Amino acid sequence: MKVLCANPPWWIEDPDAIYGSGLLAGVRAGSRWPFTSTVRSRPGQYRFGDYIPYPFFLGSAASYLAREPGVAVSFRDSIALREDYDKFFKYLAEGKFDYVVIESASPSWGHDAELIAHIAADYPHTRVVVAGPIASLGEKLLADHPLHAVIQGEYEKGLVKVVGGASGLVGYDILTEAELNAAPYPYFDPLHANKYWDSNPKGQVFPQLQVLTSRGCPFRCIFCVWPAVMSNNDPDGTGVRRVRQLSGDYLEGMLTELIGRYGYKSVYFDDDTFNLGDRHVLEVCAVMARLGLPWSAMCRADTIAWDTWRVMRESGCFGVKIGFESGNQWVVDNIVRKNLDLEKARDVVYHLKALGMTVHGTFTVGLPGETPEQMADTRRYRSSLPLDSFQESGTAEIEGSPLSTLRRTGSLEKYAGASLEGYVAERDGTRKMRLVELRDAGLGEAEMCLRHGRPAVAESICRNLLDTGGEDGKVLDLLGSLAVRARKFDLAVRFFSRAIAADAAYAAPCLHLGLLLRDQGLAEEAASCLRRALALDPESLDARQALVALGADPDDGDTPDAATQASLARSLAAVPVSSWGRTLRRAMDAADAPQEADAAEGTDGEGKYPRLIVLDHGLRFLAGHHFAYNLGVLAECVKRELPVEFYVYADCQPEAVKVLRAKAVLQPSRYESHSSDRYCSWLEDFLIAGGIAEFNLFKNLRDLDPSDIVFCHTADPKIVRGIAAWYLAMDKARRPYLCLKFQNHCFRFVAKDQRALARSIFRLALKPFINEPKVSFAASNKLIGSQITQMAEKPCPVFPVPLQLEVPAKKYRSRAEKGVLRIGYAGEGRVEQGVGFLPEVAEAILPAYPDVVFELQFACRFVDDDTLNRLRSFGDRVRVHESCFVGDDFHRLIASFDALLLPYQPTSYVERSSQIVIEAIALGVPLIVPVGTSLALEVKQFNCGYSLIRGYDGLSVIEAVAHFIDNHDALARKSADAAPRCAAFHSGGTLIDLLLASCGVPVPRTPRREGEGGNGAG
Ligand code: SF4
Repeated sequence: MKVLCANPPWWIEDPDAIYGSGLLAGVRAGSRWPFTSTVRSRPGQYRFGDYIPYPFFLGSAASYLAREPGVAVSFRDSIALREDYDKFFKYLAEGKFDYVVIESASPSWGHDAELIAHIAADYPHTRVVVAGPIASLGEKLLADHPLHAVIQGEYEKGLVKVVGGASGLVGYDILTEAELNAAPYPYFDPLHANKYWDSNPKGQVFPQLQVLTSRGCPFRCIFCVWPAVMSNNDPDGTGVRRVRQLSGDYLEGMLTELIGRYGYKSVYFDDDTFNLGDRHVLEVCAVMARLGLPWSAMCRADTIAWDTWRVMRESGCFGVKIGFESGNQWVVDNIVRKNLDLEKARDVVYHLKALGMTVHGTFTVGLPGETPEQMADTRRYRSSLPLDSFQESGTAEIEGSPLSTLRRTGSLEKYAGASLEGYVAERDGTRKMRLVELRDAGLGEAEMCLRHGRPAVAESICRNLLDTGGEDGKVLDLLGSLAVRARKFDLAVRFFSRAIAADAAYAAPCLHLGLLLRDQGLAEEAASCLRRALALDPESLDARQALVALGADPDDGDTPDAATQASLARSLAAVPVSSWGRTLRRAMDAADAPQEADAAEGTDGEGKYPRLIVLDHGLRFLAGHHFAYNLGVLAECVKRELPVEFYVYADCQPEAVKVLRAKAVLQPSRYESHSSDRYCSWLEDFLIAGGIAEFNLFKNLRDLDPSDIVFCHTADPKIVRGIAAWYLAMDKARRPYLCLKFQNHCFRFVAKDQRALARSIFRLALKPFINEPKVSFAASNKLIGSQITQMAEKPCPVFPVPLQLEVPAKKYRSRAEKGVLRIGYAGEGRVEQGVGFLPEVAEAILPAYPDVVFELQFACRFVDDDTLNRLRSFGDRVRVHESCFVGDDFHRLIASFDALLLPYQPTSYVERSSQIVIEAIALGVPLIVPVGTSLALEVKQFNCGYSLIRGYDGLSVIEAVAHFIDNHDALARKSADAAPRCAAFHSGGTLIDLLLASCGVPVPRTPRREGEGGNGAG
């Protein structure tokens, strides 16, 4: 007879996720409160670092049953293996099992019931047996699902009964303490043995063995499942609860065998409560002292003597998890009924810290009857504890616990404070957390989060609103805008289409969809949407202007009716993802095309050497990339003997002014707006800043020759308007060449609701230049270039960075040859540069990859102390430089890295360039960069070695770093190949050639030997 003890796969795909990974994974058997979360692994791809508990009851039952004569037991933990469904079902088909045993609980039951129905339909010879907390539903399960048997409580003996012929409901019958101490050891095999991992409490060493030393707990916390339903039969918290503990001898035999077989380096005792009484704890300590392995355990704060903690520490216990549940004593006493004195618990935590142990605190929020103020008490209490880590989970409601009984009956005699009033019932703790935390947040809060750079929270609020209120046009429209922002265009179309379907009279989604389609080059579909927007809102200036820009007459043409509009939206939703962005690509290709010099207009300066005038409206300091850019221009001009003058702000650092021999004359724009209306204040600021720029130029740049080239490499909308006013006021014959280079995204500092206005004004500011033959545009990357091209209808090629590399590029060496892999990070350490993820990344990567070290350079002291201290706690494996490296020193540092990690916030770097990326590529260093940013575009353009960070969260960064390490050799080789290509393009020579060519000025072929002007000889 063949029996499979299975923990089947549990994956959930969410195709509508904007900021999440769109994939959730669940943990089931082995977790008291099964839940779903984002993980590093993917279906069919195991990656180290995810929380994966050992399925304790399933593993014990498998070993117990295997002793039965004539029974062949197989064990398959698809959650630990990160197996996909196909592989699991293939295994099932090949195994031809007579029985499949699945442990399930409320959070996974919806998923598991479907899976069981599938097994019953496709494998009719296999009988399905269900155990675990869900078995509390008893006969109902058997009536509703194709099950052979349902076993209640721990199921070693129950499974033997089923294989012996029992079926239907198999009642509660658990092992006695004596039987437990005579049972075979839990099932482990080489396939599964090293897959289990819990990173808390801190200090874990991989590979980790997870086992129980006891079963049951005498306390009766309202939400707690296993002591109520698996090891006792007490669903309302009124019965007697027994505890069974393993003897020291049995435990030592078990640990010795498992450690000997699988080479474990640490042990985690995941008991309900490990430290129930000094006797048991001291016995375990004696065993662990003999084995000499570091260990940790799940504990209560108040069940052993003060001195027993010390003995634990001395026997190798480096950390404990402690359950507090709430920081409000009344809640602990009357709702949870934990019998814990929070003040004494606090003393214990301090005692443990004094002993040198790590402490992980566990808390839960959203208990029945708990108020928002009491939840705030929990956070306050938690902050008052010197914890190394903590978890705050949403209270999950699981069948068989007193909490689930409360929901059914409405009250519980022994839990005086528990009430269903205002209670949010939820089975999955992760989802519950979101529901509780964002319960009262409305659309206004979502919009505010978006404005304050928290789009992921805005998305969560919108999702809650949809969950609780159904389809809503405004909420869906906001989700569409979030998707546009995240550059998930197909998703944006789906959301806008749903918004139009939900509220046919609401104009905004029609407008937004129209603008999106226009940007994607779908002019006809865009015009159709924009006409509908205009029909719904005749005042919509944006719709009107967009139609004009498309060459359509806003007052002409049929407005499609709702049915036509809906069918249009449906057909758009079916457009394959790959077709989005095609216009963007066309624009990029156009930007890449060689510029045709205008011979007639470009001859003004023929026979003369032009003077280059560099306007820099951003330089303030000597260090950093901004200064390096100017230095690169200066060096190239010196080399060519090309006269050059720099104009910078009057408050620029004197040393920088001195090195560049700059004229520090530009007056900074520091204007405080008078208006409290945000649109008016923006316009006011725009006008004043533009006016100041105009005045600065008028005052300081009067004596110009038509052969001069004015190069403004920090153009932004405000300055452009001022430059236009200054330039056009000049006599046409005297106008110099002018090249405006756009460095950053032009609107990144403009709040979203003002961006349409800013964009319109910018377009107007650019308009006077469009037909000016001596004015050219340039951009620092393709994205900005394509935007300017679209707006100004004038080519906007990408200009290189004038790199000056004295340090040679890295030569390829395999990981085996290197011995140590150095992952580097260099930057100012700002929040938006993802510095907060670094400790988490180090924590996950270092134990898994012994040959990896991190080297981090923080040029400015923006990093908070907590992050720094956590980084320093890794000792030699994380080296931190808190100093500013410049010039060759900086390049040497970058070249010493085997990869440069840039976990930047994607929304801040969609268009914004980063010079460090170019330096790394030119130095042959592979990169780890966020997807959907200009950084990613840059690495792809040069086809260097890179690993993409798929989301702005620690997990995604860990995943990308692991991907780099796993693929080091191939990526390092690609980077070594890409380095010369990048260095050839990003050089001062190429920049000046392109600048001269874009102005139609002949490039001087021979250096000038005499003459005046410029300070380029410095
Ligand atoms: S003390 Fe811990 S194990 Fe015991 S009932 Fe409470 S939460 Fe459950």
